[in-house]
Amino acid sequence: MRVENYELEVFTPPCEPGAERYSAVAHLTHSIAEVLPYLNAILAGANYMPSANALTWKRASHLVAFHSDRVAVSNVADREEAERELDRMVDLVNRTWDRRAEITADYQAQKRLSPMAVYQLLPQTNCQLCGEATCMAFAFGLIQGKHTLEECPELATNQREALETLL
Ligand code: SF4
Repeated sequence: MRVENYELEVFTPPCEPGAERYSAVAHLTHSIAEVLPYLNAILAGANYMPSANALTWKRASHLVAFHSDRVAVSNVADREEAERELDRMVDLVNRTWDRRAEITADYQAQKRLSPMAVYQLLPQTNCQLCGEATCMAFAFGLIQGKHTLEECPELATNQREALETLL
């Protein structure tokens, strides 16, 4: 089950021909499907898709996708960074597998965060200080990563804490 080696592929994303950032894939020699529920249990914000045997996770500026037969990472500058990031992810897979007896596997697909759930924790005054016309538009922006909580100066402490937990 542990990943001992992989075949590295680095390429320009098809949607961005000529881009100066690359995507990279570690092609594996055997399936890591069994480790995905354990990664789902320990990685905050992971999105597990059991039917597709896939799990995605945002790590810093990279989107990481774990599939049964490969691990992909986006937004790398060159082959060196690709290898560094993929080595980290392979190490994460191996450490998680080694610790599986201590982890309760999570087989649940992540539920999508609802804009209404976020909106209900905002001040709902539509004051526009965040640059959006309404608090609902700001809620969409928070979910999409276009905004941060710091951009709403009207948030009370309890609202901020609840949103930090939710997001
Ligand atoms: S600054 Fe806050 S309260 Fe004002 S519109 Fe934006 S989200 Fe709503």
